[in-house]
Amino acid sequence: MGNCGAMEILRELKEKCETPNGKLRQIANAMKDEMQAGLASEGGSELKMLVSYVDNLPTGDECGVFYGLDVGGTNFRVLRVQLGGKEGRVVKQEFMEVSIPPNLMVGTSDQLFDFIADELAKFVGTEGEGEGEGEGEGGKKRELGFTFSFPVKQTSINSGTLMRWTKGFSIADAVGRDVVMELAKAMERKGLDMRVAALVNDTIGTLAAGKYLNVNVNDNDGGGDVVAAVILGTGTNAAYVERVDAIPKYAQEGIAQSEEMVINMEWGSFTSSHLPITEYDQALDAESLNPGDHVFEKIISGMYLGEIVRRVLCRMAEEAAFFGDVVPPKLKIPFILTTPEVSAMHHDSSPDLKVVANKLKDTLEISSTSLETRKAVIELCSIVATRGARLSAAAILGILKKLGRDKVIKEGDDEQKTTVIAVDGGLFEHYSEFRHSLETTLQQLLGKEVSSRVLIKHANDGSGIGAALLAASHSQYN
Ligand code: ADP
Ligand code: MG
Repeated sequence: MGNCGAMEILRELKEKCETPNGKLRQIANAMKDEMQAGLASEGGSELKMLVSYVDNLPTGDECGVFYGLDVGGTNFRVLRVQLGGKEGRVVKQEFMEVSIPPNLMVGTSDQLFDFIADELAKFVGTEGEGEGEGEGEGGKKRELGFTFSFPVKQTSINSGTLMRWTKGFSIADAVGRDVVMELAKAMERKGLDMRVAALVNDTIGTLAAGKYLNVNVNDNDGGGDVVAAVILGTGTNAAYVERVDAIPKYAQEGIAQSEEMVINMEWGSFTSSHLPITEYDQALDAESLNPGDHVFEKIISGMYLGEIVRRVLCRMAEEAAFFGDVVPPKLKIPFILTTPEVSAMHHDSSPDLKVVANKLKDTLEISSTSLETRKAVIELCSIVATRGARLSAAAILGILKKLGRDKVIKEGDDEQKTTVIAVDGGLFEHYSEFRHSLETTLQQLLGKEVSSRVLIKHANDGSGIGAALLAASHSQYN
């Protein structure tokens, strides 16, 4: 019977995706070592450990109207926030979300940035009476924080060169160019007078928002320390606050006025021999737009989880007639199964697994599946998502180790606050089994005592708000 073979494929996958705590500790140590190597010298590690030039995160004193632009996946967001200083905080906040037409993801730099500038101009046009620090008002130019979540080699707080594309984007003529210049030129073409005050990525935006909004973590000591931000969305990445004297590769430049610097890890490119990589991952990578790159991202993030599940299903259908004698043609189409669909099936708690049946039917045109088949599909979703979630927890542990926050705090050292990690992204926000697995794994790895002092906090839409906050803290009028 075919399904025996299919169950064997599943059993083998489960074995190869296994992430026992011992393995996760090795991965966390490898992450910590790679962080150190990436900070020591340029190109010292697959982890780029990029210096962000953000040495003044928002304090809460910022006042005025600021814009944010968040580009990093299939959608982009433009925001307008009105900040009222310590008392007022975020007085008002408006945003607009636009999806990027697929043809612009693989076109030219001008096409992409013209489209963005156009939408931005429309949004600026909706500025209410008396709301703007707009042009003319006190002679002040509008200021924008630009969150651009692709690997960028930063050259100052508001300039940086695109190193390569990820997440399905491929626009050759933009690589090697300053993305702020590209945006500025497009804004000029559209007659939009606005200054880009800060260029960051979504992790740094989330870190800034996390710090700004972390007024009252429920903690006896009166608030926690937001030390890092993690994105689990279409892609994955992390940023954290490092001491300048722990960044040898920039030591001579004397870059920071303050003693701390935000580091953009680009942890999507992390690799380690300890990572549980399967033949499905290898095939996915080989056929991707960036083979060999972003190995970690390709086994963890939202862009890929659905595709991994599809590849396994395809093999089960081809080699073990999992869906009957004919391999369903739709199953052969790359990326047809999305992570939100995997998530929906994984969470199906109906007795006859109706959600699974419907997804298989609607997306893959596979009808009349048996209950056993549906159960196996859920098991598959669980294997793939659990591996991603547990590896994410290990990676977070790597940061905590680097910061020395993975240990029990000594007696009498009651100054130590709760360690807060701000997390955002659609995968973390919507895939509750993933999120739950991540959180419980981190607790297991840290142990009871330490994990009671470590908090994973959802920083909702941090990357967008953070961009506007960083425009404020890097305003030329400060
Ligand atoms: P981006 O990373 O592109 O900035 P988001 O943070 O909004 O965008 O994340 C969107 C990604 O989150 C999607 O590509 C998808 O992979 C994932 N996602 C969205 N909704 C769900 C869901 N319900 N379950 C699982 N993953 C989801
Ligand atoms: Mg995002």
